[in-house]
Amino acid sequence: MINITFPDGAVRQYEKGSSALDIAKSISEGLARKVIAAGVNGQVWDAARPIGEDASLKLYTWNDAEGKNTFWHSSAHLMAEAVETMIPGVKFWVGPPVENGFYYDMDLGDKKITEEDLLTIEKKMNELAKQNNNFLRKEMPKADAVNYFTEKGDEYKLDLLQNLNDGEITFYTQGKFTDLCRGPHIPNTGIIKAIKLTNIAGAYWKGDERNKQLTRLYGVTFPSQKELDEHLQMLEEAKKRDHRKLGKELSIYTMDDDVGPGLPLWMPNGTIIIEALENLAKETELAAGYKRVVTPHIAKESLYITSGHLPYYQDSMYPPMELEGQKYYLKAMNCPHHHKIFAAEPKSYKDMPLRLAEYGTCYRYEQSGELFGLMRVRCLHMNDAHIYCTKEQFYDEFRAVNDMYLKYFKIFGIDKYVMRLSLHNPAKLGQKYVDEPELWKETEALVRDVLIRTNTPFVEVQDEAAFYGPKIDVQIWSTIGREFTLATNQVDFAQGRRFKLEFTNQENKTETPLIIHRAPLGTHERFIGFLLEHYAGKFPAWLAPVQAKVLPISDKFLDYANSVSDKLKKADIRAEVDDRNEKIGKKIRDTELMKVPYMLVVGEKEVNEGKVAVRRHGKGDLGVKLVDDFLNELVLEIKERRTE
Ligand SMILES: [Zn+2]
Ligand SMILES: [Zn+2]
Repeated sequence: MINITFPDGAVRQYEKGSSALDIAKSISEGLARKVIAAGVNGQVWDAARPIGEDASLKLYTWNDAEGKNTFWHSSAHLMAEAVETMIPGVKFWVGPPVENGFYYDMDLGDKKITEEDLLTIEKKMNELAKQNNNFLRKEMPKADAVNYFTEKGDEYKLDLLQNLNDGEITFYTQGKFTDLCRGPHIPNTGIIKAIKLTNIAGAYWKGDERNKQLTRLYGVTFPSQKELDEHLQMLEEAKKRDHRKLGKELSIYTMDDDVGPGLPLWMPNGTIIIEALENLAKETELAAGYKRVVTPHIAKESLYITSGHLPYYQDSMYPPMELEGQKYYLKAMNCPHHHKIFAAEPKSYKDMPLRLAEYGTCYRYEQSGELFGLMRVRCLHMNDAHIYCTKEQFYDEFRAVNDMYLKYFKIFGIDKYVMRLSLHNPAKLGQKYVDEPELWKETEALVRDVLIRTNTPFVEVQDEAAFYGPKIDVQIWSTIGREFTLATNQVDFAQGRRFKLEFTNQENKTETPLIIHRAPLGTHERFIGFLLEHYAGKFPAWLAPVQAKVLPISDKFLDYANSVSDKLKKADIRAEVDDRNEKIGKKIRDTELMKVPYMLVVGEKEVNEGKVAVRRHGKGDLGVKLVDDFLNELVLEIKERRTE
């Protein structure tokens, strides 16, 4: 018998060689049907793989990232099987899961796959899925694996084998298809119920343009047709809400060839949104005891050597410029600058915690192929801050950061979010992780405690922490259900020491502070990109570039329209008058297109009564109101940052 430890700490005995599926079945058939993969001693395994010794066990379903990734990667095998039946001799490179589905790179020889073929491949995949074939795992000696692929004449898998050793080579077979793969995979093809192949692209082997171009086939699969339908509908809606399309239509930002790729120019409308977000951050951070700082956009090489960004992070930085015999780099992160501000004056426990905040401008070198609208850029403005605190203060500080996120989620109507907590692996202390066993244990427990006590949804990921401490990646979902990575919170035991940051404690001894890196609003670029999709461009009044537009029915009422607009402006409302010589119908349509929250139509009746006829975007007519009443209501709506 073997002892299996469940996530809640319960230990139960099972026969040696039981699989996660067997164990799930012993709990309930319903659970077993949902299990896609298993976490065995922190590693993702086939749910069907026999467990030979005492182990900790987690069952992964479709709702876990591990489950989805295993499902989609296995679907790549299914797609390869289908392609192989249609194009014998096809050779495969790699087939990983991606954000929304999977792909497989393949060498089709002199054959081609066109858009029309995708349906045929889908059909074949459905047929093969219904055969309910098990994914069979087989360990292979390296020599046998090399022989197998030499005989097949498969230079791609032979290339992969070069970096693998005896004892770590496995083959997986489902139906008639066998692949070199470390796994894991789903138990059988039958659980793939809905399939959509989405795209064909060219991809150079190993991403190197000197190499042969392979065919990359993308697809996405689901455990039910309903989920596929919902996914396709979401994609359709996302297309309408594409931040690049809306960003242009609403004059938010522009890109220019002469400025360079990945360097957005924020237009007046976008800048209004930026300033509204910064005001929110300033207000919130001030109330939470932060202090604001400003730092230069460049720094000497030595700063980044101290921080460790050079040489490890060099590929993500702009190349240096030489000045007075020194190398200077554009800053890729604000932390080292803030650490220098901490170090500038002696600190005692009375100065702690110190919270330094800056909407810092950073420059990162993203490959041109990776650039994407506002989501992947080379210049970014980060809602950054670093909190320097004692170990005793850590819990409260981390909790306050978490509370700030929750406050923001409420303001922006972000209902779905998950904190992904990445933990260290004790076996890798001193190599992959800073050798501070106690600090790791303590801070991980405190972070977990904050998340549990605040009812914040979170998942734990083993062995994915940063070198210098546990981290939390914040995932949020837009109103149409698309996932975004918003920001990362990072606990840091290493930088304090690297920068020799110190404070004298109550016993008059020097101590190194703990550092928390945090950026709840992420970067302006990514967050505004997200908001464009989230609101479909219909910004709430407090963020809207124009909050109220006055539309005179004819020129006769232009003076009155201007007087209304002036009155609103005096109350700090962003108001405009549509003074074009156009029919009122056209004025209304154009204002609708710009998604201005409030339209104030004025004609004879309104002039005589000192009123405005109010229309709310997306809601229609709100009736005729006294100018002062409307103004007071709107001022309050803006002040409270209401969504509607
Ligand atoms: Zn595989
Ligand atoms: Zn930082």
